[in-house]
Amino acid sequence: MTTYDWIVIGGGITGAALAYELTQQNFNVLLLEKDPNPDNATRYSYGGLGFWGGTNEQTQQLCTEGWQRHQQLSAELDGETEFREIDLLMTIAPTDSVEAVQASYHKFAIAPTFLDPQAAQDCEPLLNRDAIAGALHLPHGHVHPQKTTQAYLQAFQRQGGTIQYETVVDLVHRDRRVTGVKTTNGSYTADRVVLCAGGRSRTILQKMGITAPFYFTHAELIETPPVDFSLRAMVVPANLQRLALQTQATQAGVQPLWQQPHQELAPAILDAGVIQFQDGHLCIGQISRALSDTKANIDSSQSEAQMRAGIASILPKIADTPGQWHHCLVAFSPEKLPQIGLIPEIEGLHLFAGFTNTLVLVPSLARRFALWATGAREFILDI
Ligand SMILES: Cc1cc2nc3c(=O)[nH]c(=O)nc-3n(C[C@H](O)[C@H](O)[C@H](O)COP(=O)(O)OP(=O)(O)OC[C@H]3O[C@@H](n4cnc5c(N)ncnc54)[C@H](O)[C@@H]3O)c2cc1C
Repeated sequence: MTTYDWIVIGGGITGAALAYELTQQNFNVLLLEKDPNPDNATRYSYGGLGFWGGTNEQTQQLCTEGWQRHQQLSAELDGETEFREIDLLMTIAPTDSVEAVQASYHKFAIAPTFLDPQAAQDCEPLLNRDAIAGALHLPHGHVHPQKTTQAYLQAFQRQGGTIQYETVVDLVHRDRRVTGVKTTNGSYTADRVVLCAGGRSRTILQKMGITAPFYFTHAELIETPPVDFSLRAMVVPANLQRLALQTQATQAGVQPLWQQPHQELAPAILDAGVIQFQDGHLCIGQISRALSDTKANIDSSQSEAQMRAGIASILPKIADTPGQWHHCLVAFSPEKLPQIGLIPEIEGLHLFAGFTNTLVLVPSLARRFALWATGAREFILDI
């Protein structure tokens, strides 16, 4: 039986990028993904590249590096990522204080410009200026997350990497050293294993009695077929409720509830926003829920009505566009920094999960991880 240098668990954007970078460093890599057409966070992602989102020297450097990589990633991988520059408009609700919202963006590397309602509508003509107190504008980037992942996976295979579509059901370990994984079809051995299973990484770790500081939300959105009108900007709220939900759901008092079934850790939130992809289709979202079950029951028609009502006030033209409700799990870490590197208690087991601003950070962090794996004194992320 082959003993791989690395087994990567999960074929979303994080696993695909990391598997590619590990083969770039001449490691023999197996990537295990449970589903050939996964319903994962990458599949439903808006694809935004917040290259302005660094908050200190290190994260600014990573954002800049990621942004530069994205500009030539299609050529490097020989696959389409649909990279482009785009305007980001972050709407400010009439009930929010413009000054307070603006102040919350002072920590970022690039300061947004405040647009009054008319200027915001000039930037995105479909915006209803009467529904907002204004908007923050930033230059932003955009890729097609699924196509980018496919490009990484194809380049990985061309470099000799192996993909098996099997579900990892357990980690194989001797004493406190991981030596491989068990899947629904058999088992595989490797010197090192890295978990890139997004929102499900937490469950896999729990099987080994490891509680890592990262969690997941249930995200919901509506995806439409291509439409015959164009949006110029990506539109999201400036005061993202999702971040408040993540803080509330991970406070010390509620953390034990994540270990119990059927728990709602914080009330559901709606961040009304939209992105149009290059083929013309829209993703309209987004509801986030902090529920302890990965397979919680959600009333899709109620959610869809809520998302349509949310978008109707700021972008009335798109509210009735036919589309389909979707749901996925999204991992997050309370510190808003990804969990990367060795898990201290278990030899051979690594994490690469729990990102915020994932798409811009992944190309640089995956490369840094792979260099670090060769023994180079590369910093990945000081956490
Ligand atoms: C609506 C929405 C909008 C978003 N917008 C943005 C944005 O604009 N910009 C941005 O940077 N981020 C955005 N995100 C977040 C971003 O999409 C995610 O952080 C990112 O896709 C996570 O990638 P991942 O590889 O960690 O996880 P996933 O994409 O969830 O992939 C994990 C993979 O692991 C596999 N897996 C799980 N368990 C097992 C197992 N036991 N065995 C084998 N395989 C397994 C799953 O099938 C899955 O394919 C958005 C997310 C959503 C939902």
